[in-house]
Amino acid sequence: MGRGEDAGAAAPGAEEAEFEQSGPPVVVVNAEGRSPFVLLCEHASRLLPAGYGRLGLPAAEFDRHIAWDIGAAEVATRLACLVDAPLFLAGYSRLLIDLNRPPGSRTSIPEISEATVIPGNASLDGAERRRRRELWFEPFHRAVAAHLDGRGSRRTAVLGIHSFTPVFAGVARPWQAGVLFRESAAFAEALAQALEVRLGSPVGRNEPYRVALDHDYTVPVHGDARGFPATLIEIRQDLVCDVFAIERWSRIVAASLRAIEHLVESSPTP
Ligand SMILES: [Zn+2]
Repeated sequence: MGRGEDAGAAAPGAEEAEFEQSGPPVVVVNAEGRSPFVLLCEHASRLLPAGYGRLGLPAAEFDRHIAWDIGAAEVATRLACLVDAPLFLAGYSRLLIDLNRPPGSRTSIPEISEATVIPGNASLDGAERRRRRELWFEPFHRAVAAHLDGRGSRRTAVLGIHSFTPVFAGVARPWQAGVLFRESAAFAEALAQALEVRLGSPVGRNEPYRVALDHDYTVPVHGDARGFPATLIEIRQDLVCDVFAIERWSRIVAASLRAIEHLVESSPTP
């Protein structure tokens, strides 16, 4: 539902409005950064635009991974500074429309996320789906695409910064971090090894998630299709939930990126 329309069960009350914000769909940090790494944080925000309330959810759901990637925006922002990289941060929650899912895919505007039903996403009509795509999905990806177009022959690698829950479906995940990829296997392996050296613990390869064409957007579209090395870095969210931990992880990732920077070649292979 949108502003001024019949919002049904998900109608935002005054209490729900605390999650609403007016602001841009994408926040660009350090656009002129000289690093070959271009950073995206598609799940940076848990806010919703005016008119959406909390999508009918209790406030506590917005502290959970279903609404955003805890700690990811802070690590990505610090990383942008440490390696002098441009960064694109999502303005709004993945529950509105997920910026790392192809529009129209089942999880793009989730009716259920993990086991939580999202009342404000139930049975949306085509107009509302189009509205979310046009107002929040496309501006984010247009900004990223314009930046990548404008880099010309500059060395470029695309990195999404994410976080994951320590326990999923009752099973504890053993990794502190994971590197996800499709076509950039050698680059991703080098990054995983660089992280392992600095962490002293194993890093997942395509764990805890796999990149899939029907389920992912950043790696296939902004990276693989352009011939740029592209990976997502996933950090376990309980390891980046205070300011000292965020600084530690930002430095570990920054040092790992510096160690593999020479692998980013100047001309992408078509
Ligand atoms: Zn994420």
